[in-house]
Amino acid sequence: MVMNTDLEHVKCLIIGSGPAGYTAAIYAARANLKPVLYQGIQPGGQLTITTEVENYPGYPNGVQGPDMMIDFETQAKRMGADIRYGLVTKVDFGCYPCKVLVDEEKWISADSIILATGASAKWLGIESEQRLNGYGVSACAVCDGFFFKGKEVCIVGGGDTAAEEALYLSKICSFVHMFVRKETMRASKIMQMRVLATKNIKVYFNTEVVEIVGKERTESVRIVNNISGEKSEIPVSAYFAAIGHQPNSDIFKGWLEMDEAGYIKTLPGTTKTNVESVFAAGDLQDKIYRQAVTAAGSGCMAALEAERFLSAMEHRLSIDNIQPVENK
Ligand code: NDP
Repeated sequence: MVMNTDLEHVKCLIIGSGPAGYTAAIYAARANLKPVLYQGIQPGGQLTITTEVENYPGYPNGVQGPDMMIDFETQAKRMGADIRYGLVTKVDFGCYPCKVLVDEEKWISADSIILATGASAKWLGIESEQRLNGYGVSACAVCDGFFFKGKEVCIVGGGDTAAEEALYLSKICSFVHMFVRKETMRASKIMQMRVLATKNIKVYFNTEVVEIVGKERTESVRIVNNISGEKSEIPVSAYFAAIGHQPNSDIFKGWLEMDEAGYIKTLPGTTKTNVESVFAAGDLQDKIYRQAVTAAGSGCMAALEAERFLSAMEHRLSIDNIQPVENK
């Protein structure tokens, strides 16, 4: 329910606070666009639930994800960006300037908008995942692994996230069962090697989780080998899902063009969406690279494109305002 109809107007609004959002804020602030950035419910985005980042240039000794995002935020603030805690719950991209609703109570109109809402963890979709969520079911080993110190746990997925989280858990928990649905892992070779060389991780290939068992908390998982059909049950205290992410684009449905998975479509080589004043950066529009550094790069592109768009608009308006002068 809309509580308040106050309308604030800004030149450049940024939604999202991962590498894409903060980088856009740094560039937009330096271009004097006076950006206002809404952080969403997870300030700092996905990197706040990761451990060490070794591949972001400029940190020769690596950096903890949450620390890196504090650095991004500090830099954006130092440049003059207005960083606000708040969640955009609705948008109206039907007329210019476009509008967004923050925390269900405040409408903001903006001459340009940069979307950088990122992506969220995916779940298998089995009933017990929901029922036991928070009771030994989690999609973030780094956030919740600590609660299962010294216990046996399991993780689903075969990508880099699953490999990274399995290694993380192996340092805290007594044993990690890792379920991979195919006969190979998708993770990079170096991560696969690290996982396979870790004594307290066992990888089960061609294996799917059919149920998480437990009345009040996770007690075991039922698995099936999808080749032999063999079923078994393994006692674990926690189940971690690490099977990828989905773009946080629901509130833009109906306004912006997206692909079948919900990633915002941008004009190739740009961050331009089908709405002239709206730009999309980071994981919201990138299903290929999905790296902090590529997200930051596209945040920079979005700010530069917003700046060019605003200059062109100002030019257009000044031409429209020229009154015809009568010839004498
Ligand atoms: P990915 O999409 O790369 O991998 C998802 C994994 O989950 C795959 O093994 C996939 O299996 C499996 N999976 C998907 N759906 C199901 C399902 N319903 N049941 C069982 N298994 C399922 O996602 P990630 O989050 O791992 O990585 C995303 C991107 O981020 C990648 O590009 C990755 O390289 C990168 N990344 C980089 C890191 C780093 O450099 N430090 C750390 C983490 C991620 P299948 O292969 O069968 O489809």
